[in-house]
Amino acid sequence: TPVIECQALGKTYAEGGLHTPVFDGLDLTVRQRETVAILGASGAGKSTLLHLLGGLDVPTAGEVLVAGHRMNGLSDAERGRLRNRALGFVYQFHHLLPEFTARENVMMPVLLGGAEVAEADRRATALLEAVGLGHRLGHKPGELSGGERQRAAVARALVNNPGCVLGDEPTGNLDEKTASNVFELMLSLNREQGTSLVMVTHDRRLARRLDRVLELHEGKLRELSPDEV
Ligand code: ADP
Ligand code: ADP
Repeated sequence: TPVIECQALGKTYAEGGLHTPVFDGLDLTVRQRETVAILGASGAGKSTLLHLLGGLDVPTAGEVLVAGHRMNGLSDAERGRLRNRALGFVYQFHHLLPEFTARENVMMPVLLGGAEVAEADRRATALLEAVGLGHRLGHKPGELSGGERQRAAVARALVNNPGCVLGDEPTGNLDEKTASNVFELMLSLNREQGTSLVMVTHDRRLARRLDRVLELHEGKLRELSPDEV
């Protein structure tokens, strides 16, 4: 089963008066273990697409299947559970909760999934150690560096062993060296855990490292050949 599949996907925002679609008729299949980059100019619809793939917004046409389940057919609560179990999210800004430690932030998706505190603690600690933050378990986001915060966000995205991680410019807010470290971390977790990766980026050097590069342009998604990237 593909981790994500969408068919004839379309999105038109009702606000704004013009009602022109951001895109229409998009097809996309993301297979297990596959890594996919999405390029496109500002305003092309990359974030909109990622929100639809992650069930954070609903399409105006077509449908999204996550781990074989049709998102459209689910209640909000069911969609939330599927999202928590099958997907991880990493954004440009870390979105860690400031009042909680790194370990508590990473425990949360596990607790939401219904696991015991001891189990959540064990998994959060192991994953934070795996991303090089074993010495920062008790630190709050404000006490971490930019790179450490983003690595904690990656740990949080992966702690439920999702089939796919969706990244919206996950390294876009970091300096070049730190961005490269976080990117390599995501690739190594893809290799080790088999987690698929769909990443919006404007960095073609990073995009080139992924299995497939798609470009969103004028409402169409086109696969670029390696020499076009
Ligand atoms: P990108 O991520 O490629 O920069 P977006 O998906 O953010 O593009 O935006 C695509 C288009 O949809 C833009 O024209 C943007 O102004 C519009 N848009 C995005 N979000 C909304 C919204 N909530 N309401 C109305 N229009 C929106
Ligand atoms: P990075 O390149 O990862 O963003 P920084 O230059 O911001 O790193 O930080 C360097 C080191 O200082 C890191 O190991 C980080 O843990 C530590 N550090 C940064 N800010 C704080 C803080 N407010 N409290 C404790 N340690 C910090």
